[in-house]
Amino acid sequence: MATVPRNRTGSPVYDEDNLGFGQIFTDHMLTIQYSPDRGGWHSPEIKPREDLVLHPATMMLHYGQQVFEGMKAFVGPTDDDLLLFRPDMNIARFNKSCQRVCIPPLDPAVFMDQMCRLIRKDRDWVPKSPGTSLYIRPTVIAVDPFLGVRPSKTYLFYVILSPVGAYYPEGFQPVKIMVTDKYVRACRGGVGEAKTAANYAASLLAAEEAHEAGFTQVLWLNAVDKRSIEEVGTMNIFFRIRDEIVTPALEGTILPGVTRDSVIHFARDLGLKVTERTISIDELVSAAEDGTLQEIFGSGTAAVISPVSLFRYKGKDHVVADGKTGEVAAKLFEEITGMQTGAKPDPYGWVVNIGR
Ligand SMILES: *Cc1c(COP(=O)(O)O)cnc(C)c1O
Repeated sequence: MATVPRNRTGSPVYDEDNLGFGQIFTDHMLTIQYSPDRGGWHSPEIKPREDLVLHPATMMLHYGQQVFEGMKAFVGPTDDDLLLFRPDMNIARFNKSCQRVCIPPLDPAVFMDQMCRLIRKDRDWVPKSPGTSLYIRPTVIAVDPFLGVRPSKTYLFYVILSPVGAYYPEGFQPVKIMVTDKYVRACRGGVGEAKTAANYAASLLAAEEAHEAGFTQVLWLNAVDKRSIEEVGTMNIFFRIRDEIVTPALEGTILPGVTRDSVIHFARDLGLKVTERTISIDELVSAAEDGTLQEIFGSGTAAVISPVSLFRYKGKDHVVADGKTGEVAAKLFEEITGMQTGAKPDPYGWVVNIGR
């Protein structure tokens, strides 16, 4: 694992242009434990980051009872500003995911307060170059050492932090996606709308096959008849067809993205028509063929906005927007990243300054 060199004052020194994603971790971690005999969640602790020591029968390792989140902190206009983007939504989603997999929820105020203390403690690690940020990974795992299938009685919640590089070091680049009608990610009534490990295990093989064929991400269709569009990889998806922006409605199988919600609000305030509805792959293919498909883009914390230049369905490639980044995607990327870093106004009160 990469260790970060230190300068004489003890501050971390690393190459901000080559951080990549999720490879470097800061000095400290937050842990909070859950046990019924201690009255629930107890003993929050910020301590030097350390390896976890787990019994080989730890329930998470066998049955996957786990939930995680992903968000980012940015250095703001001054070095004293540490900005989070809509952390209340991530915390609420975390608790909702927990509910789905029988993990007791955390008090949102304790979650926020302890997480902010951790971030402030490792504030020297927040990178400052354009596009870089401190990625925050809250996680909860079931820790009973037991091989029976039932919800665990004890849990470990922890937060680790990782300085991450610019998602687009060579500028805002569109990607190619592959529609799969061979695998499915989630079905109604399943765990598709929870940020839990099982969804990612279920997606790996399709993603590997897409990579081998030269594609960046998989576009998932619904599990029942493989007609309606769901989401891509770890992003929600948007289509601009004529002058309507369409995104699949939240019906239990896709992750309710914080970026998705922000795009919907923001695009509407720009005067664009945004509709949350069912959109079938056939509608998308016809729009691509008759020229009414203007652009496709994904939304998620990592990339914020990811324009799509081409999709493949049933062996046929469809080029989108002449293979270039669409104007709405470019505008949304600029405005949302500007808001997140404090460079642009935040009319919604979405940005929370935890630095001072
Ligand atoms: C996290 C995630 C998203 C995006 O959510 P954001 O809150 O915007 O980061 C979309 N789809 C999946 C499957 C995800 O795991």
